[in-house]
Amino acid sequence: MAATFFMAVASQALAQNKDYPIQPVAFTNVNVHDNFWEPKMEVNANVTIPYTLQQCKINGRVDNFLRAGGSLAGDKLSDFPFDDTDIYKVIEGASYAMQVKKNPKLDNYIDSLITIIGKAQEKDGYLYTFRTVKAAKPHPWIGSKRWEKEEDLSHELYNSGHLFEAATAHYQATGKKTLLNIAIKNADLLVRVFGPGKIEEYPGHQIVEIGLSKMYRVTGNQKYLDLAKFFLDIRGPKGDAYNQADKRVVDQHVAVGHAVRAAYMYTGMADIAALTGDVKYLTAIDDIWADVVTKKLYITGGIGATGNGEAFGEDFQLPNMSAYAETCAAIGNVYWNNRMFLLHGDAKYIDVLERTLYNGLLSGVSLSGDKFFYPNPLSSVFQHQRSAWFSCACCISNMTRFLPSVPGYVYAKNNNDLYVNLFMTSTAHIQLKAGKVTVEQTTDYPWKGKVDLTITPAKTSNFTMRVRIPGWAQQQPVSGNLYAFDNNTNLPVTLMINGKPLSFTTEKGYAVINRTWKKDDKITLMLPMPVQKVLANNNVKDDRDRFAFEKGPIIFCLEGPDNKDSLVQNIMIDKNAAVKTSYNASLLNGVDVLTTTGFSTKRQLNSDSLIKTQQEITAIPYYAWANRGPSEMTVWIPYTASAVKPKPSPSIASLSKVSSSLKNTRMYNAIKDQYEPQDSKDTNYPYMHWWPKKNTSEFVQYDFDKEYTISSSGVYWFDDGPWGGCRIPDNYKVYYKKGADWVEVKHTGAYPNDKDKLNTITFEPVKTTAVKMVLQLPADNATGIHEWIIK
Ligand SMILES: [Zn+2]
Repeated sequence: MAATFFMAVASQALAQNKDYPIQPVAFTNVNVHDNFWEPKMEVNANVTIPYTLQQCKINGRVDNFLRAGGSLAGDKLSDFPFDDTDIYKVIEGASYAMQVKKNPKLDNYIDSLITIIGKAQEKDGYLYTFRTVKAAKPHPWIGSKRWEKEEDLSHELYNSGHLFEAATAHYQATGKKTLLNIAIKNADLLVRVFGPGKIEEYPGHQIVEIGLSKMYRVTGNQKYLDLAKFFLDIRGPKGDAYNQADKRVVDQHVAVGHAVRAAYMYTGMADIAALTGDVKYLTAIDDIWADVVTKKLYITGGIGATGNGEAFGEDFQLPNMSAYAETCAAIGNVYWNNRMFLLHGDAKYIDVLERTLYNGLLSGVSLSGDKFFYPNPLSSVFQHQRSAWFSCACCISNMTRFLPSVPGYVYAKNNNDLYVNLFMTSTAHIQLKAGKVTVEQTTDYPWKGKVDLTITPAKTSNFTMRVRIPGWAQQQPVSGNLYAFDNNTNLPVTLMINGKPLSFTTEKGYAVINRTWKKDDKITLMLPMPVQKVLANNNVKDDRDRFAFEKGPIIFCLEGPDNKDSLVQNIMIDKNAAVKTSYNASLLNGVDVLTTTGFSTKRQLNSDSLIKTQQEITAIPYYAWANRGPSEMTVWIPYTASAVKPKPSPSIASLSKVSSSLKNTRMYNAIKDQYEPQDSKDTNYPYMHWWPKKNTSEFVQYDFDKEYTISSSGVYWFDDGPWGGCRIPDNYKVYYKKGADWVEVKHTGAYPNDKDKLNTITFEPVKTTAVKMVLQLPADNATGIHEWIIK
């Protein structure tokens, strides 16, 4: 069948049925050529996509398909049953990139991958390399037969979902049906196997719902949409909150569990609500959205606060140093908020989308395009670093497919309403009911708030321009009271038409301009962009007595390389400090830099007083941090002495050399960094641990810089029970070095051994150059140490 036939069927089906009231203007109709996004999309096309394809080859993902197809001997597979999706996602990204700019070499390579994928597909359409390879020792997640562990961890439907997304993208980009045919065969199998009276299971990791909606849009096959709806309706109430299966989806009103699964599910619910007109889903996702933006959203737009289950935390649980805020969750948050906008036409959703896009999503990839963050923390003391690859590579392949689609978020339309959502220099061709319109957008956003829109309709006609006035330009960082600006700057937003000021009214966050438009009519939007200080709701304990710098949509951070002694955790800045902005073209590919005067703080030996020293302080955009190696970094800056972490005076421990039975030397510094945790499960500050060891005897040792007389040892254990794998040890002993021997210190009573406190022993003073602690791990767990203090 010809491609045109498919499209005709699809548009016919959709004409009879329903879809979003507002339609996005596809990224293929929006040519972005600005100084901010265009270089980033070029790096994605020229570096990240080829790099990821190469890594998929090196890390066995291509071999998985070759083995499943019988073209390569052996049964060795990569690490995870969802690894097939990395290939699918990078094909999706490459398809999008090729739609923007032709690339015959890449096109040929993708064709060769599709051939390999086709050979790996079983006769009836089943496509899942981890089963088809028939490994002698199958992966424990896959189950003994198809779909058996789908609700758990097999990810069979997750693989299908990403296949469908890749196939529809590849078809739309190239017109080729090679991958689409593979996807149709697989989707038809799902339709035969799943449904009422057939297998009644829900997907363990959501995405197939979105994928099936796209397959429905492209093929017009109603059965795909029905199956997507079935996969939502069969969910809950007997499953786990971890994958949002503890309640029926229509009974869910707060965000819980694994954040990527959740965001994909809410996106799927929006799609299926739009396509079927089922309003029950809307009540649920409206409530969940309000829950997220008022209680569970980082100022960077990140979601999923905790690494424990890669999940949403409790209300207002937004730790900074241990923030999970997975890159995939940020991408999911953009997908979801875009759908919410398409349903409701309210700019508050684009406010969240824009915040995520420019901050917590963009931070996921290095400026060079080949280093990545999986979690995106908001504070660091050198323990975070971008990686060249992850064994679980979801965030990397997700970035490859997301970045080329950015221009698709700039405009949207509904009959004769044209929405301007994002600001980037671009040329767009948009079909309204009234006719074709070309919009030229010119701006230095996100650094400057002036936006020029030249409107050229094919013929003079009446329609409505809806220009988004961002929440941040109206003293509202995001909807609700999770965040607020400290000072009301009261700077007005102004609009001009053909150079003349226009008084305008706003509806749902948009300036509404209805008139008869003619060739070269020009709208000028002036968004004031002062540096703002953001305060978090007092319920967010991690942000108390701190503020964050925001200018326009950009969140700033303090990073070591720009500040004195490479330290930032010891900095405090007065809330009223004046801040200067300057553009530095040679720093971090060109960024705005904020400078102000603040204080560095430190402690001195044998004194409780805080030493404050005035110094110049520099802030850079958060998305650009960690491009100069590991560093200290903070988004939330203390404005009171009580919140600051002064640079401690040197201690015996901090001057010592650490050695240990633990092989990972990168953890050694943690026990002498002089950061005391809030409790034993605190993951904010670094700790060392022996996980996954258990029931063994281990040691840690300090060799002092010189001989000291010591008489006390205090140890703070890391214990992340009941969920984690570390507990306090069964027992431990402290020894000092006497000549060539290790002698136990002399003290009365037992060694104190509790969690959530410093376990201090006082012993008979000894003169020595080294101490050693020997500890016995519990029978079933490891042990970790936050801090070990010697006096
Ligand atoms: Zn990820």
